[in-house]
Amino acid sequence: MFMKNGKFQLAIVGFGGMGNWHRELIESGIEGLELAGTFDIKESQQELSRSLGYRAYESLEALLADDSIDIVLIATPNDFHRPIAVQALRAGKNVVSEKPVTLSCADLQQMIDAANENGKIFTVHQNRRWDEDYLTMKKIYDEGMLGEVFNIESRVHGSRGIPGDWRGMKEKGGGMILDWGVHIIDQMLQMVKEKITSVYCQIYHVTNYEVDDGFTLTLTFESGKRALLEVGTSNFIELPRWYMNGENGSAQIDDFYHHGRVVRITDWDKNDAVPVKTAAGLTKTMAPRTDETIKTEELDWVKSDIKDFYRNVMAAIEGKEPQKITHQELMRVMRLMELAFESAEKNQVLSFE
Ligand code: NAD
Repeated sequence: MFMKNGKFQLAIVGFGGMGNWHRELIESGIEGLELAGTFDIKESQQELSRSLGYRAYESLEALLADDSIDIVLIATPNDFHRPIAVQALRAGKNVVSEKPVTLSCADLQQMIDAANENGKIFTVHQNRRWDEDYLTMKKIYDEGMLGEVFNIESRVHGSRGIPGDWRGMKEKGGGMILDWGVHIIDQMLQMVKEKITSVYCQIYHVTNYEVDDGFTLTLTFESGKRALLEVGTSNFIELPRWYMNGENGSAQIDDFYHHGRVVRITDWDKNDAVPVKTAAGLTKTMAPRTDETIKTEELDWVKSDIKDFYRNVMAAIEGKEPQKITHQELMRVMRLMELAFESAEKNQVLSFE
């Protein structure tokens, strides 16, 4: 551990959209962390780095040869995460990779081996563990607000198709399973701490035939509860971000912000339903509940601080805390994504654990 100026020195490899997001986060102030420099294969991004007052290393090798760098953050397209991570770990750097960690379990194993062999921290920026909509839904689940939960639906819907850059290319690790899927799968596995018994995935190709531009993934857990995870890029009307059903109520979060509600039963006995007459029939089963039997509550919104991600990385390097995003969790998500692709290709329900 070098820690120039008493602060961890971080260098960013891949200084595009997300590399600059990390720059801004560090610039906004994280105690004990400093951005030392960057490297990007594009001259425009090297120039940007210099214009912001950072050192733009002339090569990855030059960056890795700088003894003052403690942490390398990798924010390149997905296919470069593995080779850069392995090279950086072998050069004695701690490594944070952007998500998805890489493209296969075999690749991930190489990264984990390089970390273990060199005694360095290697973790992944699964930043959406700090998303407040997710934390709010997780709290409803953890506190058992709805009684026994039997269904959880987590969706991200957009209508812009897949971006026209490397995200549309298979060899670069494009596609929505690896892009957004990795976030919502990771969140679900953090929420429901159970064995997964079966996996079924369907993939869409609406705007792009090379990679998936959307998918629907159904997971069945040991207790029988079901999770439905969906990413769509041709959804001009979005479904709610979260929808959860338990024996005593339902919860919905509409978007990434504070909109949604929890509806819970208050009286099971008053069960007189006024039948609903439709144009062609009558239903009591689907008649809405009367207000005296249910209670509608606002969401108890959970606040988070994404800077805790880097605080944990630094504490893990110092041996003060275990790393929050573990190798085992990364491998489980990667195995599940591999199985999702296989299930979609075979159009079959597959068993997992
Ligand atoms: P981008 O295309 O905007 O930026 C990638 C940059 O990497 C480009 O500037 C490119 O020139 C550079 N690059 C390519 N190959 C390189 C190499 N071998 N060495 C050095 N630089 C190289 O892409 P982006 O949107 O910033 O995505 C980058 C990574 O961040 C991806 O892995 C993506 O999945 C991830 N990402 C994460 C989040 C999140 O919320 N965690 C959000 C967006 C993107």
